[in-house]
Amino acid sequence: MIISGKDIQQKRLKKLTQKIAKLEHKPVLVIIQIGDNKESTIYINQKIKFGKSVGIPVEFYQLESTVELEFIQKLISDFNNDEDIQGIIVQLPLPKKLQKFQFEIIDAISPEKDVDGLTSTNLKRLLSNEKGMVPATAKGVYTMLEESKIDVVGKHVVIVGRSVLVGRSLSQLLLNKDATVTVCHSKTKDLASITKTADIIITATGSPRLITKQHVSKGQIVIDVGITSTGELLKGDVDFESVSKIVEHISPVPGGVGPMTVLSLFENLVD
Ligand code: NDP
Repeated sequence: MIISGKDIQQKRLKKLTQKIAKLEHKPVLVIIQIGDNKESTIYINQKIKFGKSVGIPVEFYQLESTVELEFIQKLISDFNNDEDIQGIIVQLPLPKKLQKFQFEIIDAISPEKDVDGLTSTNLKRLLSNEKGMVPATAKGVYTMLEESKIDVVGKHVVIVGRSVLVGRSLSQLLLNKDATVTVCHSKTKDLASITKTADIIITATGSPRLITKQHVSKGQIVIDVGITSTGELLKGDVDFESVSKIVEHISPVPGGVGPMTVLSLFENLVD
């Protein structure tokens, strides 16, 4: 069975739109892009489009990749102090030169406006299983499983990828939900022998066709977070054609986790 993030997004859209309709003031989302990463532009356009469809204004600011750290922090601080703005995102990844400042940049966002859930305050809340803003992709993957009636309690989930943005935050969220979690990465030896033992495989590497029929077994659930754009096409981490013939449930790319991340972001904003 195919787990369609697109369909789940549509299903939850009604509830979200009803919530928005009840709000006295419509929340405003600010997206800051530094540089012009191709994948980031795809994600941002999806967010702007989704915002329009639910009647939420999205303000987009694109900065040069040569911009100084102080300028970014000042801009974010102004948005923090602006009562008309409720959500702030700095689209990741940052340009190479700024990557060592990622935490300083993200942490400039007020935790209450951090709808991506990536400030140290919200990550600490996730780590301690306290209520907070959950990183949008992790939340999106969990909602996807929930909506597909896939219970994670006691299940062995193998996550491939250990970034804070996806792999690490997802591993914490699933631990909080009582799954047994194994996290793999580029130095993992014999990846296939580990992924084969999973009940659920979640892959977030950006390495197209990393997960092949050699990595999976019957009855498994495979969620593909990876998105790599090759020309006009978007590719996931999973060799969908061969893997989908073996496993029980699989999410496609595009139309899988992508729409769930966007939905979760706006759910965080409205909450
Ligand atoms: P990063 O580059 O920050 O992290 C990639 C991770 O994958 C690293 O931990 C890396 O290991 C691991 N990895 C890379 N190659 C391999 C390999 N051959 N075998 C095992 N592990 C490997 O990427 P992100 O986490 O930011 O994003 C991952 C992917 O998810 C990208 O394609 C991105 O576009 C996509 N994405 C999709 C979203 C969506 O909504 N669908 C949202 C966010 C991201 P190591 O740590 O050892 O280097």
